[in-house]
Amino acid sequence: MDKQEYKLYEESIERFNKVEDLKCLSIKQDKNGEWIESFSWYWCDMCSRNLGGNRTVHLGLTKNDDIIEYSLCDDCLYYNEYGQLDDMTMEMTFIDTHGYGRGKKMITTNNIPRELLCFAELTPEQQLQVDSDSVVDGQEYFVYRGLTYCMDEFLRLDDDSIWDGGLQETNVSGIVIRYTKNDRNYPLGDWVIVGRSYM
Ligand SMILES: [Zn+2]
Repeated sequence: MDKQEYKLYEESIERFNKVEDLKCLSIKQDKNGEWIESFSWYWCDMCSRNLGGNRTVHLGLTKNDDIIEYSLCDDCLYYNEYGQLDDMTMEMTFIDTHGYGRGKKMITTNNIPRELLCFAELTPEQQLQVDSDSVVDGQEYFVYRGLTYCMDEFLRLDDDSIWDGGLQETNVSGIVIRYTKNDRNYPLGDWVIVGRSYM
């Protein structure tokens, strides 16, 4: 997508948001936690482009609490995860996942560093999201998309990707983090960049 196409794309997303006015839009999972995907030439419900490609079923919650199904193209799937950020710079990285024989994992991130906080620095609402067992001296937390994560939930990743730790959330997706310590482009101190990974 070039700049002009991207602008048109964003305008069509704005149109969708205005017309549908949803409280939330998320990926539908079947009873095994799998996404419902298929190939289609029919247009994407969000961007209205009719490029043939993968479509993933999403569920939207309307202002009246009705649930509506939408069929979204892959671009819109990722945009829906990260598009709310004005300074979105979407990056997709393909890394090998070693040992699982699963092939490739896709990771999306907005590259925004998040500060690691101690328990006392969290708001009362964020403190409630934390498992009380994890509240020990020196433990660090960060907030990502409205949820508070504890650093000790993450397993060290020993693959040769740029990511330092991972947390599996569903059968097909999880969260990955990397420290910004050694990267001059980011603030000094304890910050992490968070990404979402898809099997
Ligand atoms: Zn789309």
